[in-house]
Amino acid sequence: MLKITDAVFVTTATKASQWPREPLPEIAFVGRSNVGKSSMINTLANRNKLVRVSNTPGRTRTLNFFDVSIDSHGKKRTVRLCDLPGYGFAKVSKAEREQWHEMISEYLSQRRQLSAVVSIVDAEVGPTGDDVSMLDFLQGTPPKILVVATKLDRLSKAKQKPALHKVAAVLEVPGEAVVGFSAVDRTGVNDVWNRLLATVDARGAR
Ligand code: GDP
Repeated sequence: MLKITDAVFVTTATKASQWPREPLPEIAFVGRSNVGKSSMINTLANRNKLVRVSNTPGRTRTLNFFDVSIDSHGKKRTVRLCDLPGYGFAKVSKAEREQWHEMISEYLSQRRQLSAVVSIVDAEVGPTGDDVSMLDFLQGTPPKILVVATKLDRLSKAKQKPALHKVAAVLEVPGEAVVGFSAVDRTGVNDVWNRLLATVDARGAR
């Protein structure tokens, strides 16, 4: 049994000096604008409005931190989630894109308590060129990567498995590295949490 006992917004940051200081294990979420990242975080946190779900992509240009407390099989933990600004929004200037890249690179390479990064792709659309670039970039940073393919509910049952295989093939990762997810029917919630908590625990044991 996995139960969320608390979920709170912590802070917003645009630079390293603003990152929250408590040494909680952290998990970051990254994906193209509109991929369903806010919906995924809300679903994992079991809250409707922890993160604002929006139809105006490219708006959030900050790192947003949330603390989520979980009781999993009687084991209680608090983990910190970091919502990274979405990428791939066309109407963004070159300067803004560079600023985004600098902020993300700094965070991913220097955030010591960061256990894992969830790289979100659209199960129906498949990985875009930007998603492939993002994964290549993540593979050069310390945290573990979990690929989660969301909006799985948009595919018929028969098409779900092939779609997840395609995601793995395009991203050149093993099939079992990709988890299917849906914020609509909550598919994958336990699977994603169990994998993330295993990563957090493995790091803590080192
Ligand atoms: P973000 O920009 O990545 O944070 O994406 P949002 O969470 O705001 O979602 C973008 C749009 O996709 C919204 O209209 C959501 O309702 C929709 N959406 C998000 N997740 C899912 C999902 O799992 N299934 C379906 N069918 N739609 C989703």
